[in-house]
Amino acid sequence: MKKTWKQHLQQSICTLDEFQRRFPQAPIDATACQTFPMRITPYYLGLIRTFDFSDPIYAQCVPQSAELKTPHWLTEDPLAEHAQQPVPGLIQRYPDRVLLITTGQCAVRCRHCMRKRLTKREMNAADHRVQERWIAYLHAHPEIRDVLVSGGDPLLLPEKNLFALLCAIRTVPSVEIIRIATRIPVTLPMRITKTLAQRLAAFSPLYINTHFNHPVEVTPEAAHALKLLADAGLPLGNQTVLLKGINDAPETIETLCRLLLKHRVRPYYLFQCDLVEGTEHFRTPLETGLGIMSYLRGRLSGLGIPHFALDTPENGKIELVPNAILSRTSKSTLLRTSNNKTIHYPEPAP
Ligand SMILES: *Cc1c(COP(=O)(O)O)cnc(C)c1O
Repeated sequence: MKKTWKQHLQQSICTLDEFQRRFPQAPIDATACQTFPMRITPYYLGLIRTFDFSDPIYAQCVPQSAELKTPHWLTEDPLAEHAQQPVPGLIQRYPDRVLLITTGQCAVRCRHCMRKRLTKREMNAADHRVQERWIAYLHAHPEIRDVLVSGGDPLLLPEKNLFALLCAIRTVPSVEIIRIATRIPVTLPMRITKTLAQRLAAFSPLYINTHFNHPVEVTPEAAHALKLLADAGLPLGNQTVLLKGINDAPETIETLCRLLLKHRVRPYYLFQCDLVEGTEHFRTPLETGLGIMSYLRGRLSGLGIPHFALDTPENGKIELVPNAILSRTSKSTLLRTSNNKTIHYPEPAP
């Protein structure tokens, strides 16, 4: 019989002993495992094809010694999120949007996670009193139109708590859209049921942003979860993190974006890996991301092209775009096309 999502969670591999007992030959680093906790669902484990760090799934979830490198530019909280919480767990970096950290729990602990500080301290779900403070803040700040329900993974909250929170957010008339950020379609797709999708859709407009990093993650199970969400009427987006050796080949991102579109998911962001501790080995030069963007443009419909962005503390995301403008005068602009030709664009006469 197929495992339920709760069994997948219960049977996740979380300790070094367990991992080594099941895979005695497979590489894993004990210190890295201690420093940044591990958690892998049997489902996600099942996507591994070779048990070493050359495998894109293995490298995303198994602790390796490279995580212990500590160059000074990597920190625990590179986006200074902790300092930007007017209320605990509520991050505001833009006038019209806030992000809520609802829990520290995830189905899989991604090795590249930018919120490792939560999982290191085993942060649990934000309690009722904290949630009341979030809602009071939203009422007091009618300029906030967009609430990102994030974590951890909000789809791991007990359903009662999740829906109580969504109901509470919907009591604030100035909130126009809600977004849920979740990696559940990738790491625990059986968690998405028709009932769950329909219950979420009752809070529309509600967007789901998920986190596929590699084409291998787009399995029939994941596709089914996406279908349930899309059929319920939820707009779907995806945020990929660019990771060296995992998805930094232009062809890999192209394949991923095409697959996502086929499953009704708009590629939304391609993120430069944040400057978070334990990720030096995953970081790519900015040039890699820019090269990928140039490669995609001209090959792939604009519908499938994400925004390449890097995130900064205090100042939010910066979109990085390959330079198309070579020179300009008041009369004409010299532009570079996607296939590397140069053309003149005449500006309108004054
Ligand atoms: C990324 C982020 C958002 C949302 O940004 P969008 O560009 O609108 O997707 C909002 N708040 C915080 C703190 C964020 O990090």
